[in-house]
Amino acid sequence: MALCYIGLGSNLDNPVNQLRQALDALSRLPLSHLISTSSLYATPPVGPQDQPDFINAVAALDTKLSPLALLDQLQALEQRHRRRRQRHWGPRTLDLDLLLYGRQTCATPRLQVPHRHMHERAFVLVPLHELAPTLTLRQRPLSDWLKGVDSAPIRRLSDVDVTTAATI
Ligand code: AMP
Repeated sequence: MALCYIGLGSNLDNPVNQLRQALDALSRLPLSHLISTSSLYATPPVGPQDQPDFINAVAALDTKLSPLALLDQLQALEQRHRRRRQRHWGPRTLDLDLLLYGRQTCATPRLQVPHRHMHERAFVLVPLHELAPTLTLRQRPLSDWLKGVDSAPIRRLSDVDVTTAATI
């Protein structure tokens, strides 16, 4: 079994529902057990600003799937959400990133783990820190990496926000 962390993001077609459905699908992946999920966070887009804010979260999953088999599952799930991507860094219905796969590293064209950009992205670090505050990344505590990013615009959604947003 490997303890994995998966980053989720959406800014199209009711993002809160996209994430809820994706989390539900993660809980039903084969040979896997969903351990915990972070709160949902509203985060400003990286790149082009003429697009809606994102909703982001991180999930912790125990799995017996290999890293590539897990990536296959995540990409199939993205496809099931009819992921639309017109441009790089542009809006998308569902983005799933394999952030960490236990302590394993993987550097192939198709999969890099730890995810190449996770240590510099507040929208990943904030929910990941909520789930795993003592985690280290590249031999530095997660809290150190957090100090290096601007997490001020990141807003944790309350239960009321989530309920309201899901019905929009
Ligand atoms: P993006 O949707 O922009 O995050 O990038 C998707 C591409 O990144 C796919 O071609 C994946 O094969 C590749 N990729 C490399 N490493 C990862 C990872 N750790 N998690 C998800 N996709 C990855």
